[in-house]
Amino acid sequence: MTNIVLQLTEADIARVVQRYQSDQVHRQAPGVIFAAKLPDTAITVYKSGKVMFQGIGASREVAHFQAENIAIKKSSTAKGDTLPEQFAALSVLGSDETGTGDYFGPMTVAAVYIPADQIELVQELGVKDSKQLTDDYMRQIAPSLKKACVHSTLILRNEKYNQLQAKGYSQGKMKAMMHNQALKHVLRKIAPEKPDYILIDQFAERGIYYNYLKNEKEIIRENVLFSTKAENLHVAVATASILARYAFLKEMDQLSEQIGLAVPKGASAKVDQIAAQILTKFGEETLKAMTKWHFANTEKAKKKCKKY
Ligand code: MN
Repeated sequence: MTNIVLQLTEADIARVVQRYQSDQVHRQAPGVIFAAKLPDTAITVYKSGKVMFQGIGASREVAHFQAENIAIKKSSTAKGDTLPEQFAALSVLGSDETGTGDYFGPMTVAAVYIPADQIELVQELGVKDSKQLTDDYMRQIAPSLKKACVHSTLILRNEKYNQLQAKGYSQGKMKAMMHNQALKHVLRKIAPEKPDYILIDQFAERGIYYNYLKNEKEIIRENVLFSTKAENLHVAVATASILARYAFLKEMDQLSEQIGLAVPKGASAKVDQIAAQILTKFGEETLKAMTKWHFANTEKAKKKCKKY
């Protein structure tokens, strides 16, 4: 289903209301000042000036207003789906990933189910605003979160990552496959219970996400919502983000221990430096097994290393 949210001026909202007057429906929801329903599109106007078009006819309806030259400014805050009212208080299965921009270390994805009656507990265990979460803090709280919550954490080590990458898999496709897999695991664990919604921290538009999954046997689609910054919208995603990060950090610890050198996060010049040291000391196979080999860091490290 397509969801398009526009931020409109008062004058333009009047035109929206006028256009859909004859299709008006009554919707008693906070903040809603007008709602209409066409056979294939629902239109909701909010007091805030946001207008939401939902359904397979959404693009067509929006195109109509664009043709009329309405000063449409796509809402910048709500990238992704508009969530139901009181979303933060619902039972949600959330997923998030980490390690995608790091040269060293795996890509990790976690999916976590937090039913409504567990939200307070999770907050009690230390899940809070993502800006306040340092790696050290996440290391502290992750073990008790893992015990308290139904979750699935997947780790894609770089040996496998590099194989998939060489086969032509994009990072987006790998991510989508991991999210789908982790969600599937958790749904299986909690069955027959079902979450009210599934929320994926958005890394790709819905259509692109499902296109990545088109060859999968089992694709999770029911009640799936996407949003950027989803960790601030429900504790399930916030917890997923912590567990994914924790798995990544533990893997980084292991790599560091394995080569007797602290492997750095990210993909900066510091990373090139350490990569060059590993090349010199252990050779290419060792470095390749612990890095996302197609990153530009590989060539930079080779240039720094006298052997190449
Ligand atoms: Mn994310």
